[in-house]
Parts: sequence; structure tokens; C-alpha cells
Amino acid sequence: MKIIPYGKQSISEQDIASVIEVLRSDYLTQGEAVPRFESDLRNYVGADYAIAVNSATSALHIACLAMGLGSGDELWTSPISFVASANCALYCGAKVDFVDIDPDTYNMCPDKLEDKIKSTGKIPKIVVPVHLTGQSCDMLKFRVLADKYGFFLLEDASHAIGASYLDGKVGSCQYSDAAVFSFHPVKIITTGEGGAITTNNPDLYNKIVLLRSHGITRDQNLMNHNDGPWYYEQLVLGYNYRLTDIQAALGSSQLHRLDDFVQKRHEIAAFYNKKLDSSFIKKPQQAQNQRSSFHLYAVQVENRGPIFTRLRESNIGVNVHYIPIYLQPYYKKIGFTKGYCMNAESYYQKTISLPIYPDLTNEQQLYVINQIHSICRQSLAVSVE
Ligand SMILES: *Cc1c(COP(=O)(O)O)cnc(C)c1O
Repeated sequence: MKIIPYGKQSISEQDIASVIEVLRSDYLTQGEAVPRFESDLRNYVGADYAIAVNSATSALHIACLAMGLGSGDELWTSPISFVASANCALYCGAKVDFVDIDPDTYNMCPDKLEDKIKSTGKIPKIVVPVHLTGQSCDMLKFRVLADKYGFFLLEDASHAIGASYLDGKVGSCQYSDAAVFSFHPVKIITTGEGGAITTNNPDLYNKIVLLRSHGITRDQNLMNHNDGPWYYEQLVLGYNYRLTDIQAALGSSQLHRLDDFVQKRHEIAAFYNKKLDSSFIKKPQQAQNQRSSFHLYAVQVENRGPIFTRLRESNIGVNVHYIPIYLQPYYKKIGFTKGYCMNAESYYQKTISLPIYPDLTNEQQLYVINQIHSICRQSLAVSVE
């Protein structure tokens, strides 16, 4: 039996055709497909600007640089995220710190953020709330704190394209300075590898555009002078973080399917919610002011270790999202220790991500549900003896 992964891309004939079209065209990169994807993306989320890059990791890096993050500054994020949410601070020579999660939504807790500002007397330059599993953080509360204390809000929306918060799409940046998306194949839509930043701030937009491509410009308004039609200037130290047109064409095609993907993910989540036995499986709770993209369906179980192993033995590609970032050996070396964020650590002890993706069949889902029930019941029986 083939393994049922926890997440997987869905590629249609139309997706393939749009990639082939670029391959037959004159430009594989720096053509028209990237600006088209950017305009599709900003229209979809309802933001003024979108900048496509080659990964969410790159997006986080140059968004932080554009916000002026550097040595002597701090960036605070959630410990329950992928390491990239924190590494971006270190790329910029800044310090990173972690704010514990809310035990219901598993997102960074805004009250704990304010407590930390008060108890440490420190104000981070950037706070990175992560919309874990595709459920938006309570951005209104973060906005109030950002205004009160004066820090940038950079949403790590890697899980959350297609999600909504209050009456806007995640990425509209109504309550933040910028948002970052990932288009890795396991995320909601894909470009192979890829990412993007959305913002309503023209200054951040201009800086990010420069940083994406070597710090080089041909814009008359930005250049110091002009030697001729060949002329360009490097104004800052940038990178090559560009997305290719091949990838962008796939991105635009996938974006057309995004609402269907999210709808399908909701149907799968609803079926899990209905069928999973809550006497021994804690299901993910949903805040009322948002609509998740359901990138992940993460449950909490006692005795997670053996249950995880048995599920894998049953060819179910369950996963764990995430190991608290500060418990990684690299972060322990910088000085973080066990016990730092207790909610995050107890969440980590019990979490399992079950398969959820648009092409998951009802039959496969029933198999997952039956397996997890029988494995959990056996595990419970063993622990009672
Ligand atoms: C996937 C992911 C990233 C990194 O995305 P890449 O596109 O692979 O660089 C960052 N943050 C979170 C929360 C993610 O899930």
C-alpha cells in the first residue's frame, strides 16, 4: 500500500499547460509571468503590493531587512513554527526570542506578548505572529500592541493563503506591516519552491524589490545619475531571491484553484471533526473571528510517541508540527533551555498532524480514522493495565 502523506500538492492539466507555455516562450525568468502572478496575488488577498520570491525563508529575510532589523535589535516569534520564522532574525544579525502560545489556538498569545514586554522592559523591533495550521492569529490584538509599543508586525502566513480574518483575507495586511507566504509543495498552493510578501507600505515594497535582486535598480527616480541605456546601479547589498517565470505561471494557475482547495480542506476537516472520537483525541479548536485554510489538521493525543510509530507502520505519513524552535541544538547553543515556553512544550508532547490535502479520498480518510481509533484504543488499554 502506498503511503498516505500528511500533505501533498494537486497539479491539474491546466497547471501543466501554463508551465509549458512559459517553457515555449522567450523568457524563463524576468519575463511577464512573475508580474502577472504578483498582480493575481495582490488582487486575491486585497493588498496594495505583492513581491514574489524564491521561498518564504527568503521572503522573511528581506522583509526583516526592509524593516531595518539589524544588530542590537530583537525579533520575537512563536516557538511552535518552522525554524525559518526565527532564523530570519539571525540572518540580519539581530537577536531572536519567543513568546509562548495560546493553549486553545496554539498561536502566539497576545497577552503573553504584552506580559513579556512589561517583564523584560524590552520592545522587539519586529514581532512575527505565525498563523499555525492556517488559522489566523488574533491580529486586531497584535495591532493594538504594535501601536502601543511601536514594533513592526510581520505575519508568517506560510500556512494561511486562502484563509480569512474578520472581513479580509490573510495577507491583506489590514492589521500588519507585511505578510509572508510559502509555495512549497506541501503548502496550500505551490510553485515548486517559492514565496511572496504582501504589504500596503510603499517604502517597504520598494526596499524589498531592491533586496530581491542584488540591490540593483534601473529606475530613473532611484539612480544617482545615468550613463546611458545600459546603465544600472546597485544601491544596497541585495540577493538573488527571484522566482522564475516557470514557477510563477504555476503559481497563477494554482491561485485560480485556491478557493476550491480550501473548500475541500474544510470538508476533510469537517469529516475528521465528525468522526474522530473526542474521548481520546483532542481536535483543533477554531476561533470564531477567522476562517482557516486548514493547511494542517493537528490533533492532540496522550502517548503520542508509540501512536505516531504505529500510524507510520500503517503507511499513514503523519507528522509533527512543530518541535519548539528553541529546543533545536542550534538554539540551545545560543542559550535557550527546556521549560522556556510551557504551553509550547506541552503542545509539542501530544501533537500529530493527520493527512489533509485536496486529493485525499474519502476512502483514504476513513482508513486514517479507523487506524487512529484502533491504535489509540490499544494504546489506552495498554496504559490502563
Ligand atoms: C514552510 C514554512 C516556512 C518556510 O517556507 P519555505 O518556502 O520552504 O522557505 C516558513 N514558516 C512556516 C511557518 C512554514 O510552514
